[in-house]
Amino acid sequence: MSETKILLSERDIPRQWYNIAADLDTPLKPPLHPGTKQPVGPDDLAPLFPMALIEQEVSTQRWIDIPEEIIDIYRLWRPTPLYRARRLEQALDTPAKIYYKYEGVSPAGSHKPNTAVVQAYYNKQEGVKRLATETGAGQWGSALSLACKLFGLECTVYMVKISYQQKPYRRSLMQVWGAEVIPSPSPRTQAGRAILEQDPDSPGSLGIAISEAVEDAASRDDTKYSLGSVLNHVLLHQTIIGLEAKKQLELAGDYPDVVIGAHGGGSNFAGLAFPFLADKAAGKEVRAVAVEPTASPSLTRGHAAYDFGDTAGMTPLLYMYTLGHQFVPPGIHAGGLRYHGAAPLVAHLYEQGVIEAKAVPQRAVFEAAVQFARTEGLLPAPESAHAVRAAIDEALLAKEEGKERTILFGLSGHGHFDLAAYDAYLAGELEDFELPQEAIDAALAHLPKAD
Ligand SMILES: *Cc1c(COP(=O)(O)O)cnc(C)c1O
Repeated sequence: MSETKILLSERDIPRQWYNIAADLDTPLKPPLHPGTKQPVGPDDLAPLFPMALIEQEVSTQRWIDIPEEIIDIYRLWRPTPLYRARRLEQALDTPAKIYYKYEGVSPAGSHKPNTAVVQAYYNKQEGVKRLATETGAGQWGSALSLACKLFGLECTVYMVKISYQQKPYRRSLMQVWGAEVIPSPSPRTQAGRAILEQDPDSPGSLGIAISEAVEDAASRDDTKYSLGSVLNHVLLHQTIIGLEAKKQLELAGDYPDVVIGAHGGGSNFAGLAFPFLADKAAGKEVRAVAVEPTASPSLTRGHAAYDFGDTAGMTPLLYMYTLGHQFVPPGIHAGGLRYHGAAPLVAHLYEQGVIEAKAVPQRAVFEAAVQFARTEGLLPAPESAHAVRAAIDEALLAKEEGKERTILFGLSGHGHFDLAAYDAYLAGELEDFELPQEAIDAALAHLPKAD
């Protein structure tokens, strides 16, 4: 069989998500209350999340049913295609087979709607009227705006101010889908006002915007908060990606030696890789590699520790790999994946040696993205291009070693809204950036004490 696109029908959309918490050797360390430093219970989280999501957050049940209403919405873009990258293989002259799972066919152009629609659904079920969230470049904000519109919820998005000013088109998309978009830091919240007092020209950061959205949700009865990555329930919803990919590879008669995903907070990597790690837990040999930028290297250079999810220190403490919640990536970094931490589940698997991590500099990332666009046609999101880089490196290594190898990577989104970053690359304006150790030490000095 020599298909280029391996397609499933809507009938083949998986009916359950895979919960890797069921297959961990040792349980996750629990989130801690930011004040008391005691493990948080469901009641602590109830002001922020609907109970159904809190239950998923702590569940250790292996398979969790996907509601029929969600399957109906998933039909708008799922199943997503799995491609065999024959033209890229030829260009690399590699004996490796390269497959990629493409999530750019969703309405928002990335994997993020896979969880956004689920979060909107459970909130709607529990009578919530409005969701508040943060967004960096706008991928998550646009996914949640769409999801809220589909379920008749209001949506307020705190958007990192520098992106609000420099990347107007995703802001437009959120507004088309009916969301209110506020540049962050804003005068709307205490957290925002405190930052503005210190620095009226603050460009904002993801951590600050999270503080604002959490405060907004916690202070209103009709509003809850929604997060696009990092949390267990988000990673759970994204496993639809890997579950489909397994069926598609089976149709192609293949199984990956290595599964590769870009890593920001961990959701697309986990979504693709975790269903394969279920096989690994059962004794099968398969590698999983999370790829991050050298400018924001939480797994490869961060510490395993309890840390806040946001800058102001309002969220529960999560045990993760972190660069410190006050970490702000350098301004010259154009490739996204700027979050200071890694999802607790990803961090746990990394600490246990179940998965690998790799950091790549941004010029090599854009070089790979352009090579991919010039062979396969699709324009990768800069975030996704981290996985493209690592996949190409694996394929080149296979060539050097003269070994066959099957590579699966996640193409988590398209780059149609990211052409300014491509312009900068093509104009030779991007620089590689290795974080100096002092910068990491300085950020880590602000880690909270967990005991
Ligand atoms: C948000 C985003 C990422 C990074 O987030 P994760 O939670 O690590 O998946 C990667 N790729 C695309 C296209 C994104 O929009």
